[in-house]
Amino acid sequence: MQTEKTDVLVIGAGPSGTVAASLVHQAGYRVRIVEKMKFPRFVIGESLLPRCMEALEEAKFLEALKGRGYQEKNGAKFVKNGKVCDYQFAEQFTNGWKWTWQVPRADFDATLADTVEKMGVPIAYETTVTGIVFDDDGRSVTTVEDAAGNKKHIEARFIIDGSGYGRVIPRLFNMERPSNLPPRKALFAHTVDKKRLLSDEPNRITIVVHEKGVWIWIIPFSSGVTSVGFVGDASFFERFPGTPEEQYRAMLASQRDIAERFDNVELVFEPRTLQSWSATTDRFFGNGFVLTGNVTEFLDPVFSSGVTLATVSSQLAGKLVIRKLKGGDVDWNKEYMDIMMQGVNTFRSYVMDWYDGTLDTIFFADNQNPLIKSQICSVLAGYVWDTTNPYVKDHDTALKKLARIITIRDSL
Ligand SMILES: Cc1cc2nc3c(=O)[nH]c(=O)nc-3n(C[C@H](O)[C@H](O)[C@H](O)COP(=O)(O)OP(=O)(O)OC[C@H]3O[C@@H](n4cnc5c(N)ncnc54)[C@H](O)[C@@H]3O)c2cc1C
Repeated sequence: MQTEKTDVLVIGAGPSGTVAASLVHQAGYRVRIVEKMKFPRFVIGESLLPRCMEALEEAKFLEALKGRGYQEKNGAKFVKNGKVCDYQFAEQFTNGWKWTWQVPRADFDATLADTVEKMGVPIAYETTVTGIVFDDDGRSVTTVEDAAGNKKHIEARFIIDGSGYGRVIPRLFNMERPSNLPPRKALFAHTVDKKRLLSDEPNRITIVVHEKGVWIWIIPFSSGVTSVGFVGDASFFERFPGTPEEQYRAMLASQRDIAERFDNVELVFEPRTLQSWSATTDRFFGNGFVLTGNVTEFLDPVFSSGVTLATVSSQLAGKLVIRKLKGGDVDWNKEYMDIMMQGVNTFRSYVMDWYDGTLDTIFFADNQNPLIKSQICSVLAGYVWDTTNPYVKDHDTALKKLARIITIRDSL
């Protein structure tokens, strides 16, 4: 069997794979990526957060991305029964990026992959990892198979697993663990949004609270296409019979804030379902490998944290891998897993407080305190590592406390 050698093998050409590959390549090491699919390929996850811009910048991807003309995103907007809650990233507490993009991921991911390839990182598309063997020093031999069934071996000093929902290393080495979040479901499509101007802010991403535990994303792209998806527990979807398209159209019609805009709308593809996406692993690293992006833990789509956690984890992992290749010591627990868990756990608290109604009380309260609003805004911008922000540092208690104060104040 043919054998190739590299310093670092990256699994997956999504945002987590390409950011890490770029950083390790820039440091002068040999990197290659293996990617199961042919690009461009569809993946969900279209709303970015400002924090991911830092990772994209360091990976030298920003110039190519700016050339794609994506829709800019300047804040987070939530709507419930016609009432609007508006967070503007320019007003956030943490000193960071004030904007980002809404992106069709097929194009976005292909742009990242093409850019890293132009830098000199080879990508083998339609090539799937089927097995990995590590030796005691953490060196590995990976077996990959291409679309024609040809197999080869890749010897690497280190592996970065950015395989997203493929979860290659956790599956191969039995590291998968169930998430502590209940399973949820999404039904979504891309729509030809010709009546966008019916909305007061036609190009703005909006999260609509549909009913308790059920919400809708509306993500307009600069192309005129808008991604619209429903998220909730399975029982909500059971109330809508028929084909996925019939279900989807009935759901659109049932939400008065959007019914007219999406009445009879042309769909770019038949509505798709995703469910039970929350997953985790017991460790984010091992002897000779590190896991990045969705492979580590994916929570929930509501705060658009996925691509940010993917790019920030690969930004950090890439730097630690470089130090390791140079012969330095890395405390993966302290320098990687603890840091990533700080961000994941902050978002986890917000996700739980979203579904139990705590954030409803805060988001739609009258007379909001501007300082607290700016601190919550920073979390929504992805700055979940700024522990000078009390709404990051005390993420598990601060929101509940604030909601209680608002409830008492409003009952007086
Ligand atoms: C309903 C829903 C809505 C979401 N909305 C948002 C959102 O608005 N904003 C946001 O930031 N995130 C969102 N997400 C999360 C987002 O989809 C992911 O967090 C993000 O794509 C993770 O990037 P990644 O690079 O880790 O993985 P991916 O983007 O999934 O890339 C992994 C790559 O690895 C490849 N691969 C898999 N297995 C193998 C293998 N065996 N060999 C070789 N290659 C392999 C895959 O083909 C893929 O290209 C959403 C998720 C869901 C479920």
